[in-house]
Amino acid sequence: MNIREIENILAKFLYDLETEDRLVRVGLKDKLESAKIYKKYERLFSQNTLEKIGNFRKEVSRKDKELTDRIYFTLVSGFVGQRVAPLEDLIKTYFANATTRLGSEKISYFEIAPKIAKETIFDKREKLDSAALAVVTKANPKQLKLLIDETSVIKDLGFKGYLHYFSESKKVNYDQFYKVIKKILKLTDKIWLKTMGRVSQEVLRKPFENLNAVHMGYLRSLSMYDNFYPKEKVITAFTKFTNDLGLVDLLNNIKIDDANRPKKNPRAVCYWPKPPSEVHLVIKPIGGEQDFEAAFHEGGHALHGAAVSESLPFTFRALSRSNALTEAYAFIFEDLIFDPVWLSTNLNVSAFTGNKILWQATFVNLMLLRRYLGKFSYEHGMFSKDDIKNGPKLYAKNLKDATGFVFNPSNWLSDMDSGFYSADYLRAWIGAAQIKDYVVKKFGKRWFENIKAGEYFRSLYARGVTDELEDVVKRLGYGPWDISYLVENYKKVLG
Ligand SMILES: [Zn+2]
Repeated sequence: MNIREIENILAKFLYDLETEDRLVRVGLKDKLESAKIYKKYERLFSQNTLEKIGNFRKEVSRKDKELTDRIYFTLVSGFVGQRVAPLEDLIKTYFANATTRLGSEKISYFEIAPKIAKETIFDKREKLDSAALAVVTKANPKQLKLLIDETSVIKDLGFKGYLHYFSESKKVNYDQFYKVIKKILKLTDKIWLKTMGRVSQEVLRKPFENLNAVHMGYLRSLSMYDNFYPKEKVITAFTKFTNDLGLVDLLNNIKIDDANRPKKNPRAVCYWPKPPSEVHLVIKPIGGEQDFEAAFHEGGHALHGAAVSESLPFTFRALSRSNALTEAYAFIFEDLIFDPVWLSTNLNVSAFTGNKILWQATFVNLMLLRRYLGKFSYEHGMFSKDDIKNGPKLYAKNLKDATGFVFNPSNWLSDMDSGFYSADYLRAWIGAAQIKDYVVKKFGKRWFENIKAGEYFRSLYARGVTDELEDVVKRLGYGPWDISYLVENYKKVLG
């Protein structure tokens, strides 16, 4: 097999894998069977293929180096995936079918988070949390085995460990990034404690002392503003937005799944099985602000995928190093639904209420940022020292230090997305603030209805996953990991 043949088969493999994952996630299939798909393509994930491409990487010309590297790391990830697929299938199928008791009521595990988001009674939220914890704790031995197995396959392939492997495949120096994270924590400490103390009294009616992290799930839903975000307007508002930007043609490539199936995972998601021609935007509306947030966030990913230039090789259409860039595009659109100018134009919200929503949403954004700063600090602490046995302790400590909330150590594995995805998100937070600054300066506050802004986004999307986020901001004249735009915005709105 030569490199082009491998690239073609990889495209087919990823199509099958994403489709399988999506069908289970949206509740159209009960059992995840990714192991079967790995079996079908096992020729791709042999030691032999890996070695060949590994050697080829060393002699390839500079021009083809990036393409070869990406194919190599996709093969490595498939090689690891193939070995742990049966266990991973078991875990995902377990969560998709898990149920728990809440008093006399039997509820599915996936229903718990949306219930917490809407539950106005403090004590009932804590009961829901205990119910979720029972399901999570039961899966922990399998989740731990999965992490250990993954790490050992990675080491067998010659990487020093988990952190080393991901810093090579994602091209990020995580030790350096950790320093940036510390700086963001320090620069937002004061504003965080001040606003959190205020919200705790106003919304939770408690002093901010050792509160269970479950209440973050309630705070983040902004349920006091649900009335301003009618469920039946979610899709029409998103469609109008694409139309205003002159991007409505891209919806032809996007399949929107907003059906409410009982077994559908409520966490919204976007799949790119075949960019640009087949992209899926999946949401499960429950009413309120979170539906709009999900539709516009996943919509950001979906428009990106649907506008990828057909003329790029598959590698630069789909095989990204990390997801930081597409997450930044998603964050920019997601934030729009709290913008008072957008709210008054699209949902008839008064300037007074719009500003209140912006304040509360910016607080939530900072809360989630602090949570992810804690998550990354924990993962970095654990993997840089190869200290998995202290994982639960490190998790609870770092999350408490960053947010002030109490996190149950048992969530240490279920609350971790593999491959330092927390860092992808944090990079996106930094980069989205920079790109937003550029877009507002160039196209004005009403950029969301400016065809020129739409054209600009289309030109960024067309490059697919060729660039990393930091390359994009550099081209716009910003410094990679320059956190000032991010930090200043919190001070501007909340201070
Ligand atoms: Zn996303």
